[in-house]
Amino acid sequence: MNNNIVNLQDKLQALLLSQQGNFVQGSVADYIPALAKVNPALAGISVAAIDGKTVGVGDYQRPFSIQSISKVFGLVMAMNRIGDSLWQRVNMEPSGQPFNSIIQLEWEKGIPRNPVINAGALLVADVLTSHFSASKLAFLSFMRTLAGTEAIYVDNNVYQSELSHGNRNAALAYLMKSFGNIQADIPALLSHYFTQCSVSMSCEQLAQSLLFLANKGVDPRTNEVICSPKDAHRVNAILSTSGMYDQSGEFAFSVGLPAKSGVGGGIIAIVPGYGVICTWSPPLNKFGNSVVGVNLVAAIAEELGLSIYH
Ligand code: GLN
Repeated sequence: MNNNIVNLQDKLQALLLSQQGNFVQGSVADYIPALAKVNPALAGISVAAIDGKTVGVGDYQRPFSIQSISKVFGLVMAMNRIGDSLWQRVNMEPSGQPFNSIIQLEWEKGIPRNPVINAGALLVADVLTSHFSASKLAFLSFMRTLAGTEAIYVDNNVYQSELSHGNRNAALAYLMKSFGNIQADIPALLSHYFTQCSVSMSCEQLAQSLLFLANKGVDPRTNEVICSPKDAHRVNAILSTSGMYDQSGEFAFSVGLPAKSGVGGGIIAIVPGYGVICTWSPPLNKFGNSVVGVNLVAAIAEELGLSIYH
């Protein structure tokens, strides 16, 4: 380990310690009962750089439910599979609404505002379900390739919990189908969507898996092309404007990185040309974003001068 890495590790440790009192400021997601059982005091950070170095502190190797962070991977798969025709079925605008809102979808005739709110991710799940003979397996194998390990699993407790409390997502999917914007059978589509949300991964695995988005679509560890440079740009743009839901504006204003949160408490932030930050702390704010995670990503970006708007 060189000095920079040791320094970064020390800085991350200090930042994590500085957040110890803040776990109580949020509450863990309980609309998916299995997520309510997670210990709210667990927390980790991992920073993976495109030059191959990865640093982590706290519970950074402990798997957690990736939830909506899965929307980033699903989107890349759908873009790769059907190309630009995807953008006739989903828009690329911020929604200004909660992540699972249904109101806008009726006004806008079943075209979701963007692919990282629930409606948009369900649309993406439709593309995957309709274009892969075994979409869940295809998703898992994509995750395993990116993470560089076969040991990536679906948490069946979380899956069952989502399935039995998934009426709002079902309503979003049926509404889109009524407008002719969904092809697959809704139960199959929901099964795919809940499967990808229920994948468990650690901060370290997530940070390393997303390095291609910091490197114009190429995985710097293998030189494999994961998506085109244009699509890497597009995903980062969508994450900048919509990845933190209705807190995306404030997040851009104060942090300045493309990012995606999940209600499992994870946040990933892409630093083009540098690497990926992943934080995990389960208690959420009213937008469904991790309270401590937002603080940590903000502090790391500031400490290292990483904002893309500099
Ligand atoms: N599985 C969750 C849901 O559909 C994902 C939401 C999230 O992480 N923001 O509600």
